[in-house]
Amino acid sequence: MFFEKKIDLRSKQAMVAFLCGHHRYYTMNSWNRTTSYANRIKIPYLGLTQEQVSRAYDILDTDYWDELQFVIDDFTSEMDGNYTIGVNGRSGGYLVLYRGEYYDPGYKSRCRACGQLNYQAVSGEVGQCGRCGKMERVNFSKPLRWHRVLPGQGIDQGESFEDWSMQQLRERVELVCRFDRACDEIRNAFIDLLDNCCVIEETVMVPKTVRRIVCAAA
Ligand SMILES: [Zn+2]
Repeated sequence: MFFEKKIDLRSKQAMVAFLCGHHRYYTMNSWNRTTSYANRIKIPYLGLTQEQVSRAYDILDTDYWDELQFVIDDFTSEMDGNYTIGVNGRSGGYLVLYRGEYYDPGYKSRCRACGQLNYQAVSGEVGQCGRCGKMERVNFSKPLRWHRVLPGQGIDQGESFEDWSMQQLRERVELVCRFDRACDEIRNAFIDLLDNCCVIEETVMVPKTVRRIVCAAA
């Protein structure tokens, strides 16, 4: 447990102290002023060994975040989309707890050939695709369910929790503790990368040189 803390859920005082004392950060920009619960993930503050630190700086300009995204996806679906985790701050120095929601983007059909989405439903079995022209456009069997972050909404900003019931407090503490645990999981997965992966350079078709992260078989 690096970020996660054990909080006594029977003590109102302990819960309020935890929520009021938790690190916070902006959800959008510093001039927007909206804030939420956050944890600092700048390299010097992650509790890494000297060797891990030097490897960490080497990894930062690769696609390494792809290897950590699963933790956020798990968290978001466990929260039924109502909360998610985002990275904010200059050079992504903070993990921030965000409000979010599932929504229907409104697309009714999709081309099986090129993947183009369309707001119009097909009247028969298949319709013509407006992009590639093929008769491959088919309706979705059920509405799409996409997820979006609501960055304009802060969480508990300026809240003193005075009139919160014990039940409300417990639920909020459990949410923030779950967020902290997800941050721990992200940190652990990042350390795993540092210990088991190396950065390789490869030339791709474009052609340009990209830096990719390669991991030992799990
Ligand atoms: Zn098409």
